[in-house]
Amino acid sequence: MSTQTDSNKKDLLRGGQFLVKETSAENVFTPEDFSDEQKMMRDSVQEFVNRELMPKREEFEKKNYELTEDLMKKAGEMGFLGVSVPEEYDGLGMGFVTTMLVVDYISGATGSFSTAFGAHSGIGTLPITLYGNEEQKKKYLPKLATGEWFGAYALTEPGAGSDANSGKTKAVLSEDGKFYNITGQKMWISNAGFCNMMIVFARIEDDKNITGFIVEYDSENPNGISLGEEEKKLGIHSSSTRQVFFNDTKVPVENMLSERGSGFKIAMNALNVGRIKLAGACLDAQRRSIDASVKYANDRVQFKTPIANFGAIQSKLAEMATSAYAGESASYRAAKDIEDRISIRQEEGNSHQEAELKGVEEYAIECSILKVAASEDLQNCTDEGIQIFGGMGFSADAPMESAWRDARITRIYEGTNEINRMLCVGMLVKKAMKGHVDLLGPATKVGEELTGIPSFDKPDYSELFAEEKEMVKKLKKVFLMVAGSAVQKFGPQLEDHQQLLLASADILIEIYMAESTILRTEKNVNRFGADSQKEQIAMSKLYLYHAVDTINQKAKEGIVSFAEGDEQRMMLMGLKRFTKYENHPNVVELRKTIAEKVISENKYPF
Ligand SMILES: Cc1cc2nc3c(=O)[nH]c(=O)nc-3n(C[C@H](O)[C@H](O)[C@H](O)COP(=O)(O)OP(=O)(O)OC[C@H]3O[C@@H](n4cnc5c(N)ncnc54)[C@H](O)[C@@H]3O)c2cc1C
Repeated sequence: MSTQTDSNKKDLLRGGQFLVKETSAENVFTPEDFSDEQKMMRDSVQEFVNRELMPKREEFEKKNYELTEDLMKKAGEMGFLGVSVPEEYDGLGMGFVTTMLVVDYISGATGSFSTAFGAHSGIGTLPITLYGNEEQKKKYLPKLATGEWFGAYALTEPGAGSDANSGKTKAVLSEDGKFYNITGQKMWISNAGFCNMMIVFARIEDDKNITGFIVEYDSENPNGISLGEEEKKLGIHSSSTRQVFFNDTKVPVENMLSERGSGFKIAMNALNVGRIKLAGACLDAQRRSIDASVKYANDRVQFKTPIANFGAIQSKLAEMATSAYAGESASYRAAKDIEDRISIRQEEGNSHQEAELKGVEEYAIECSILKVAASEDLQNCTDEGIQIFGGMGFSADAPMESAWRDARITRIYEGTNEINRMLCVGMLVKKAMKGHVDLLGPATKVGEELTGIPSFDKPDYSELFAEEKEMVKKLKKVFLMVAGSAVQKFGPQLEDHQQLLLASADILIEIYMAESTILRTEKNVNRFGADSQKEQIAMSKLYLYHAVDTINQKAKEGIVSFAEGDEQRMMLMGLKRFTKYENHPNVVELRKTIAEKVISENKYPF
């Protein structure tokens, strides 16, 4: 299945290292690298979505929870629920890229199904795959992989949302030492209405950290578990979301996951995977929004011409396609890095379980970056979709209205985008302190460059992407300059400067997304020729252009917030130098090139 050679694997960067190390185009995995097996999987998921989900989109708006449950069963029969579950537990045991591909293509029709799918096969099943012991895996995974049982993940409480380790749910050991009695209240639990088991996090005595438990649920024999009413939500109307109350729920001691006090680690690691998969889940939703929007734009006539002929509409279609393309590029790049890291660890003697755990943890920064970027791109894409549909966009009879409402939740769950922004910068700083990513060396060099005399040589940018790749290198210097100085200035107190962290996160996110987009296109130009990649080249340039703007704005905001006088002047001059184009891209032409392709193919064609 792997298309990367062993020598590529040796060059594999650690998580976060993209910021300080070069990646060659040949070393990134792209959707164009899907193996035949992966393409077959994609086609069969698409066929399932087109046959089973798309025709029922209206029904999904009617709070039909049984419909979601029935279709989840069908997805189980097709094997889709067990893609990442090892074969010995009746799953398909496929690699991380295939797992991403399934969650991507299964999520395009409706957020109701994609949430149920993600809650079950991601956070509902993964804690057992990653942390379960042999008995637990044997007992639960086959049922979950086939859809005989459904899973849920119960972490959030009324008083413990973003502060997930602060939950009050208690687990008390019974006198005979055979059970834990769980008592407490969980909130916003996806799949609660039809699940057969939940991963529940509770605190034992006054432990600093919570503990994870596998808790079975049978409505006929509820064992102290009761459910609240279905929540009335803005979107994902047929996704079951309820409160769950535990009142002395007896859980056998053997159902504890991993060790006492390791629940927070379990919860966070499950969320790392959940985050990158959520990014995947935003991709096909974007493609399908673009498909619907361009079809409408080609059909809808105003002023005696299809609205697709208007530059205003073309500009939107081009931007929507560009962000979807960037999301694909970065998501599959990271997914393959995770897959390779898992296989390296296995080659080094780790069990599959340990390897997967450590492999994903390694790329937690990228997982957070992708979650934020893809969820916000999806939101923009559906929002512009509504605008293209005009008044019809506002109507529940057209597809954009529900797509927009469904998209909104992706910025909130699996850690809000604020939390994920702060996490990705915080984790990077921690990695630097542990010596896993050398930020200090490169940051010092940037400092020297700032005080040195700039070169006035005219660079040779005649080769494709020569200037763009140079620009990405310079953008990395911007991050090192801003975040590096901030770390020096504030030390551990940096975490109290949230606006600065958020600005730094935006710089980091844009760098990863822009670089991934350019590398994907460069790889494809090298093998398929530049003529076949005209629009992809345009999208890469357009994405970078916006990234430069965003980074300029965020970096300036950061610099003036903490630097004064000469230091401020020097950094602002550096910023100007690091964000300067020699040859300004003609963004109007770039958008035209991209839009022409989307409009002529009447779909997202990349
Ligand atoms: C439809 C739906 C399905 C869900 N499914 C599940 C599920 O299956 N299982 C589960 O366990 N949970 C689930 N959740 C819960 C979800 O993960 C939480 O809603 C989310 O983590 C945010 O927590 P909160 O709602 O308590 O918001 P809060 O934590 O109260 O946050 C409110 C606002 O404050 C910000 N904020 C909070 N803390 C900080 C901080 N330290 N610094 C800066 N800003 C901060 C947040 O970013 C947000 O903007 C679901 C939620 C919804 C709405």
